Amino acid sequence: MRIKPKNPKVQRVRRIIVAAVALCAVLFILLRNQDTGLKLEDDESAPLPETATTAVPEEFAIPGEIDWEYPPGWIDYSDLPPAEELGDEDRRGTGNWRYLLVNGLDQSNYLRESYYPDMTYVEAGYSFQTRAVEDLKDFIAAARAQGFTVSISRTYLSYSDQRVRFNGMASTIYDRGGVTLAEAERMVIAMGYYPGADEHQTGLAVNFVDENGEAKFATPVLAWMREHCAEYGFILRYPEGREAYTGREAEPGHFRYVGQLAAEFIMRKGITLEEFLMAYEEGSNPVVAW
Ligand SMILES: [Zn+2]
Repeated sequence: MRIKPKNPKVQRVRRIIVAAVALCAVLFILLRNQDTGLKLEDDESAPLPETATTAVPEEFAIPGEIDWEYPPGWIDYSDLPPAEELGDEDRRGTGNWRYLLVNGLDQSNYLRESYYPDMTYVEAGYSFQTRAVEDLKDFIAAARAQGFTVSISRTYLSYSDQRVRFNGMASTIYDRGGVTLAEAERMVIAMGYYPGADEHQTGLAVNFVDENGEAKFATPVLAWMREHCAEYGFILRYPEGREAYTGREAEPGHFRYVGQLAAEFIMRKGITLEEFLMAYEEGSNPVVAW
């Protein structure tokens, strides 16, 4: 597999990733110590005034494809499925709808406000991308057949809800003092929470919780779901130790539909959707122009 050569853009992206991850770490420590109850994933607190007309700051506006370098030999890609086998009649190869990439570190793949997936009802008020809904139902049914109690805690998240969340997080940080509103917004952007930057807008992501409403790596039902998700075309989207690629803190309950072929490869290797897509020379940026 060809490794992309170092170039200034890659170096710049890597510097930005390092800075963003460092900022995230500082911010998380800050938030935890202050115990404000600001929950990143589940924050749907009272709506705040819509102030998020701020453009993404220049240093976070990364044009072009994601082509982060990965260390040679780090992952064995020799059994990577051929790109043409990943396709379907809608779109061949890595441009397939199943691989729609939303990564908070790269503004070029943020979803547009106008992007609404075609959704079908699943249960308990939650819908999922129509083309993958049967696989989701099968996945949940299989977990329940094992005797587990599992519930959905999130599927689709609209652009406008993301904007409300963005404003709320920035306001919370700003209200604590010591930073300007613009700086607070930058901190939230660096955490990957800009509107359009949440994978839940694809309709292909699902969060699960156990009978206590919890999602932890040690939770038995989530451990079972990690073990079996690929059989139903799902991956653990934000694994531990891969934050530099995903731009997100590890998230035990967040699964993402990519189809069985990709899911089995990704889960077997313990990698991310980003690394999977990077492994293809062609179409390394699968973002579709909507
Ligand atoms: Zn999630």
